[in-house]
Amino acid sequence: MKKNSSNTMALAPNTSNKRETVCIFGTGDFGRALGHKMIQSGYPVVFGSRSTQTSPLIPKDAEVLSHAEAAQKAAIIIIAIQRQHYNFLTPLAEILHGKVLVDVSNNLKINQYPESNAEYLAQLVPGAKVVKAFNTVSAWALQSGTLDASRQVFVCGDDMEAKQMVMDIVRALGLTPLDQGSLLAAQEIENYPLQLFPMWKFPIFLSLGLTAFFFFYSLTRDVIYPYVYEKEDFSFFIAISIPNRICPVLALILLALVYLPGVFAAIIQLYRGTKYRRFPDWLDKWMLCRKQLGLVALAFASLHVLYTLVIPIRSFVRWRTSNQIVSQALNNVTESLNITNAWLSDSYLALGILGFFLFVLLGITSLPSVSNNVNWREFRFVQSKLGYLTLILCTAHTLVYGGNRFLSPSSYRWYLPNTYMLSLIIPCIVLVVKFVLILPCLDKPLTRIRQGWERNPQYSE
Ligand code: NAP
Repeated sequence: MKKNSSNTMALAPNTSNKRETVCIFGTGDFGRALGHKMIQSGYPVVFGSRSTQTSPLIPKDAEVLSHAEAAQKAAIIIIAIQRQHYNFLTPLAEILHGKVLVDVSNNLKINQYPESNAEYLAQLVPGAKVVKAFNTVSAWALQSGTLDASRQVFVCGDDMEAKQMVMDIVRALGLTPLDQGSLLAAQEIENYPLQLFPMWKFPIFLSLGLTAFFFFYSLTRDVIYPYVYEKEDFSFFIAISIPNRICPVLALILLALVYLPGVFAAIIQLYRGTKYRRFPDWLDKWMLCRKQLGLVALAFASLHVLYTLVIPIRSFVRWRTSNQIVSQALNNVTESLNITNAWLSDSYLALGILGFFLFVLLGITSLPSVSNNVNWREFRFVQSKLGYLTLILCTAHTLVYGGNRFLSPSSYRWYLPNTYMLSLIIPCIVLVVKFVLILPCLDKPLTRIRQGWERNPQYSE
């Protein structure tokens, strides 16, 4: 009997979980999408609008009232209206006194106004507690349920209690609130959605610059040089041969540039004898975009694989092969297999395949969904140890490709070495310096420095 009554208790509705009414000013795209999501999450929603007529677009369980009437029904009011229309709130200042006003607005340009929209709102309605939130979530994502990309909601505000109330709503909607501090952080939060690939700028501009340089370099060596000296037209190299020279060169250089800042950082820390001094700004920025550099490198490596796969079906290659066969037949000679060349060719292909496989593995582990599932040590193992192994394999692939052609005079046209020789400079420097850095006489002090030891402690007792 007792057991039964406890079961009945468990099944009884929990009245303490009843959600408080939320008011939304503005029945535009964002207001409606947020209102819809809130109703789904169990919040009674009341809209404050210039027109109290309901429309089929407005969630059917929501009430639509005038701004003043709607504001009186809730302690939290979400202002889903563009900043330039905020003036209509001034006459409502008395009703809004003590209420939590949530500013969700964005601007069209970075730092468009001297103060953030949320601070402007706080100036217009001084008696209200303003909280900035939701501006990085799109109406479309709220409506379609594809919130994976924007599950985080940045929240900031001066009133702790008001901020907590908003963060509770964020959680109830299935999103993750990230407390960014006081309202002073609002300007930065408002700038987030306007940033254009901030971490991608350096890798993209660098690869564009390098692509242009290597394109004209290869054009000079492989198209203009034979035309000038042999009157041969190799202009069709522009379609496949030259891109297939540029792609591996860029993949290798960019991969080496992922590891070069780490080498610089180690040298700086060893020189200073401490890790408690900031790196120069350029190095900080470079370190922050290593993942993007690596992904651009992977894109070039993948293109190299695709270009290489089509080599056997190229008309020029088929013509050259059949010419060699015909010439052997006409001269009645059979060229014997050069075992050294066969070894070199198979080895460089094998190194390339293994290097590319690890390259892809590195790319996959850098995806947030994968990296979130490995611990810090596993992530470091993959990105550092496997990363260096990838760099070693790809460098070896290029070195073996060069084989015995490095010293051959035909490799230098107008004194210009082949592009793959240029691509080896940075990777070789990185690998040699890294090798020196892992020698125990340098590795030990470096490890101690990274664990907090200082050669000349700044704050010694
Ligand atoms: P919207 O579709 O243009 O709607 C804005 C609403 O503001 C209108 O529907 C209207 O509602 C109200 N309004 C317009 N002029 C007004 C005036 N003079 N006085 C008072 N109210 C006025 O804009 P939205 O896309 O919903 O965006 C609303 C806010 O959310 C903006 O600040 C935006 O930056 C922010 N936001 C939008 C998104 C998004 O994906 N759309 C994402 C994040 C943040 P009534 O007709 O009901 O009065």
